[in-house]
Amino acid sequence: MIKRAFITESSLAGLIGQLAESGRRVLGPVRSGNRVMFKEVCSMEEVDIDHIVTTVSPKEALLPRCEEIVRWKNQGKETLMADENNPAVPTVVYGLRPCDARSVEALHAVYTWDTDDGFFLSKYDTTTFITLSCRHCDEHCFCVATGGGPGDTAGSDLLLTALEDGLYLVEIVSEKGQALANEYDSFFTMAHPGVMAGSGAESGHGAAANPGGATQSGATAQSGAEAPSGTTAQSDAEARHGTTAAPSPDQIDKESYLADVEKHFDLDTLRERLEKAFDGPVWEEQSLRCLGCGACAFVCPTCSCFDIQDETYGTTGQRLRCWDTCGLGQFTIHTSGHNPRETQAQRWRQRIMHKFSYGYNRLNITGCVGCGRCSRACPADMNLAEHLIDIAGAK
Ligand code: SF4
Ligand code: SF4
Repeated sequence: MIKRAFITESSLAGLIGQLAESGRRVLGPVRSGNRVMFKEVCSMEEVDIDHIVTTVSPKEALLPRCEEIVRWKNQGKETLMADENNPAVPTVVYGLRPCDARSVEALHAVYTWDTDDGFFLSKYDTTTFITLSCRHCDEHCFCVATGGGPGDTAGSDLLLTALEDGLYLVEIVSEKGQALANEYDSFFTMAHPGVMAGSGAESGHGAAANPGGATQSGATAQSGAEAPSGTTAQSDAEARHGTTAAPSPDQIDKESYLADVEKHFDLDTLRERLEKAFDGPVWEEQSLRCLGCGACAFVCPTCSCFDIQDETYGTTGQRLRCWDTCGLGQFTIHTSGHNPRETQAQRWRQRIMHKFSYGYNRLNITGCVGCGRCSRACPADMNLAEHLIDIAGAK
């Protein structure tokens, strides 16, 4: 069962700062012009949360766009092999969206389906995801149609939902999330801080270590958690929750704080129609303006294909695993020159089928979380949601 607590904005900033000081790699969304990208951060001041989703997904934390998997050195007639030298660094990803967190489950299914991929798993095991629910969406978001939602907990370790000014509801979703909450227990509270500050009410200091527990009798206002501007926060909370008493975390109606994401199509209907669409004209029609540039896959949180490349430098070399995509013409080309997917229509079909049909049939996953990045990034204005509605029919 998911446990709940509160954290204030200032405590959250303190938490991020301490996580960075602890030697962990902390990745957060950082704005540069009109792009927001996940970068290593030391403090909350570097982080941008005023965006719908980042330009590129946070999957690089688990699946770098290029990673060394083996290296070698030629010595005379001998080739000396060595394992890669890029050990997983304990990492916290802060500020990803629920669709991004959900994509981690899809990646995990792919990278463990027939054999465990050690490069992926070593990062997965040492990464904690602190997700931010969505209070806003845009016309490209369709997470709800793919089975997710703006407050979905899937794939997150901690999920934060912004409530009144400067206050967040914390949902502790996983054991990793609980371990982090226990380690940094003083930043979390069970008592509504707006009420704490305004009324001098007793606080639940140390709440995250015992998030289901009762407020500790006799505790004074929590020192690690500054209250947000008290009366506004308190009255807003009272208006939303219909009570003059301070709401506990479990009494928070999270849904009332979330973006209203439209359900554009029905996923089951889409899957049924895809089963019969393989030889239909829709792929040619839809892919006419696709340039085959691959931008859609490179921003996508669930695209998981890679290529292996050997780079040599004199007598040394390294083998790299690099992102690749079925949207590129050379992806399936054989050494004979034959390409079983020689047209962009065939490649578009593969992309859609893999995400919405094959992945579901083989691994019980949907290889799309409806983040809309592919549509935002496409130079030819291909809109995935519109194409899926064309196939499934609008909901
Ligand atoms: S970004 Fe657009 S043009 Fe480029 S491959 Fe994807 S759908 Fe085609
Ligand atoms: S296919 Fe597009 S909408 Fe779906 S997860 Fe990938 S980038 Fe997001």
